[in-house]
Amino acid sequence: MKKQDKRHKAPAEPPSEGMSIDAILAQLASMKDNAKASIGDVDPEGDEIWRQDIAACEAATAILSALQDEGIKDPEQVRDLIHDYNALAAQYQNLHQKYEVEEKPVRLGNTFICPACNRQIRQLYAAHCWSCGKRLGWGR
Ligand SMILES: [Zn+2]
Repeated sequence: MKKQDKRHKAPAEPPSEGMSIDAILAQLASMKDNAKASIGDVDPEGDEIWRQDIAACEAATAILSALQDEGIKDPEQVRDLIHDYNALAAQYQNLHQKYEVEEKPVRLGNTFICPACNRQIRQLYAAHCWSCGKRLGWGR
């Protein structure tokens, strides 16, 4: 059995998904204190386990504190933030691809058509498609 520390008290409230970062940080501090107090109780190999627990508590505290510094209050906000970030990053990539990355117009007889929307390009050497805004590259 890894740890059966008599000093480790039960958490004041049962852990739940709605636990605030403040509460998590307080619990981590308590766990770290318990781990510190347990060093020397058992064999040196056991001490190493407590030291690893302390290091993990400190690492988790650093991550959560950084999130808290950005105004995050609970794990749900972390998920929302990452979800929003990923959605915006994908949206930005699409906009960049459309409006900034050149693509060669497709020649069709005497006219050219947009490689994105397939509509006729009204003005030769236009920088963008008049219909959809796609950035055009004429290879000049
Ligand atoms: Zn177009």
